[in-house]
Amino acid sequence: MSDIAGKPCILCCAITGSLPRKSDNPAVPITVTEQIESSHAAVEAGASIIHAHVRNDDQSPSSDPDKFAALKEGLERHCPGVIVQFSTGGRSGAGRERGGMLHLRPDMASLSVGSNNFPARVYENPPDLVAWLATEMQAHNITPEVEAFDLSHILQAITLHGAGKLQGQLYVQFVMGIKNAMPVDKEVFDFYVHTMQTRAPHAKWCAAGIGAAQLTLNEWAIAAGGHTRAGLEDNIRLDKHTLAPSNAALIARAADLCAKYDRPVATPAQARTILGLQSR
Ligand SMILES: [Zn+2]
Repeated sequence: MSDIAGKPCILCCAITGSLPRKSDNPAVPITVTEQIESSHAAVEAGASIIHAHVRNDDQSPSSDPDKFAALKEGLERHCPGVIVQFSTGGRSGAGRERGGMLHLRPDMASLSVGSNNFPARVYENPPDLVAWLATEMQAHNITPEVEAFDLSHILQAITLHGAGKLQGQLYVQFVMGIKNAMPVDKEVFDFYVHTMQTRAPHAKWCAAGIGAAQLTLNEWAIAAGGHTRAGLEDNIRLDKHTLAPSNAALIARAADLCAKYDRPVATPAQARTILGLQSR
């Protein structure tokens, strides 16, 4: 464990997502004002990246650039230095609509580089759309966080980065525990880490688990020297019987795991250095 002791760990808070509603957990922030308040508390608890989707007033997913703009402005004012990451995930819109807010120049944006199944549909990321989103991110100096729902997505991320198609430093997030996609599997996780270490030794990686797997993936990632994500987008519960009271509570739980493994929680400034991001 000594090789990870003292190594700062970046905590990303996925505050809202596209799916959970107030009826699932009243703490899910829906309006931009709620999102800023929830993010502020999560940053106080240790988050240095805010991963954000926006919603319509009826809680349905939105791709409205005006809402993204208001959120970014509020985060920059109330959480100075925090890394703003917009989602370009497929639930918020169709085709290029998914990248319709990239001109706002968030620090980062999520980028899926391949397709896979989700619980009730195909998560479609055709090569021409991936290429367009990656090009938009380069044009606006946005570092992608590549979402890897499968091993092929990790390899594709390394290939695209090697070909100069991805802005900035390579950052890959392993996602486990989505029904019909990659299950929570420690051997596979270890192979993912090994793949990054051997094929992209200068890249950074993080991991996220869905539902009850959030805590599992937090611990695996922290123990293996990576970075990790928590928040109500991925998981609305503390345990089987208890709803999470806030995004901050889920981040605090990850921060406790960092302490267990002697890893300091990265400040936003440290996270920017680790990820090679300029301050904006
Ligand atoms: Zn998301």
